Amino acid sequence: MAGNRTFTMIKPDAVANGHIGNILSDIIAGGFKIVAMKYTHLNAETAGAFYAVHKERPFYGDLVEFMTSGPIVAAILEKDNAVEDFRTLIGATNPQEAAEGTIRAKYAKSIDANAVHGSDSDENAAIEGNFFFSQFERH
Ligand code: ATP
Ligand code: MG
Repeated sequence: MAGNRTFTMIKPDAVANGHIGNILSDIIAGGFKIVAMKYTHLNAETAGAFYAVHKERPFYGDLVEFMTSGPIVAAILEKDNAVEDFRTLIGATNPQEAAEGTIRAKYAKSIDANAVHGSDSDENAAIEGNFFFSQFERH
């Protein structure tokens, strides 16, 4: 059964360009509930660890450099079928190929500065959420 949580980051380009509010509005309008959220600035060690799955890819160095270039917003989102529905909401990795109306089509400029991250599986959603938030239940 598909899980009900995913993890997202609003990336440095979108934060720098003033899109936090519009992107959060789109996320909420898309039926997602924000269950944890943090504004932070990653250092190379943290960004490198988060993207360790891409260590062998040619763009890894640039990706880490970009993700540390300015503050980000990290959040855990809740909805039925969260991972797949969120990737539909954000659109293709390359904003040039992202469907009209998606967050990347609206707010991203290039494949590296592509406005948002979205987990690609239930397993990674849990790993990535736990990476940023030690616990996110009510207390
Ligand atoms: P994300 O994981 O950020 O949600 P994604 O799952 O659509 O994006 P991945 O294949 O996981 O894409 O790549 C992670 C990130 O690495 C992309 O969001 C993008 O910022 C960057 N990236 C991917 N492919 C390239 C590339 N060919 N050139 C430069 N950067 C890239
Ligand atoms: Mg990915």
